[in-house]
Amino acid sequence: MLTSSKAEKPKRVALSFDDGPNPTITPRVLEALGRYGIKAAFFVCGANVKRCPCIVKLIDKEGHIVGNHTYSHSFLLTLTGLALGETLKTQEMLRDILGKDMRFFRPPWGISNPFFIRRLKRMGFRIVPFDVIAYDWKKGVKAEDIVMRVKRYVKEGSIVLLHDGDETKEHADRMEVVKAIPGIVESLRALGYEFVRVDEIVGERT
Ligand SMILES: [Zn+2]
Repeated sequence: MLTSSKAEKPKRVALSFDDGPNPTITPRVLEALGRYGIKAAFFVCGANVKRCPCIVKLIDKEGHIVGNHTYSHSFLLTLTGLALGETLKTQEMLRDILGKDMRFFRPPWGISNPFFIRRLKRMGFRIVPFDVIAYDWKKGVKAEDIVMRVKRYVKEGSIVLLHDGDETKEHADRMEVVKAIPGIVESLRALGYEFVRVDEIVGERT
């Protein structure tokens, strides 16, 4: 029956991780995603890429998207549209490391100047938004809080924002994000969600 087959169609959700790569957290996130066979997207900052190029390679090797999150994570530069130089610099670093040019961009804090965004789009960048915020960066946040927020706000076609780093800081306290992954995956799958890569969702929107 048409109605029942419609109801059985899996809802899609994509996971994304910003502010990496981080030498402690990112490999643990990759390990957790690998265990569940999930492909995600990682929006990396050039300053972090410089410290951990091998982890960027690993992200790509495991089939995830490596997206551009500017070099310095500067809010002011992105907002004023002056971040083009450092975005392209980061893109060049990624191209050198990966030997390919994946043009995905997410501005720091998801906020940026519309002229800057239009320019990036003209250059072939796909801009990746997010609609589920788990406040995983808040001090003292617990894995169960992160899981609960994702469960509460997820809907068909959602892109979940999580963090495997802390802007361009070398040390990031993100172990609760790592611990939250099994809970997020298992509870959303139980709700009928299928994990897809972000480009399957963004491709339709832009
Ligand atoms: Zn960020």
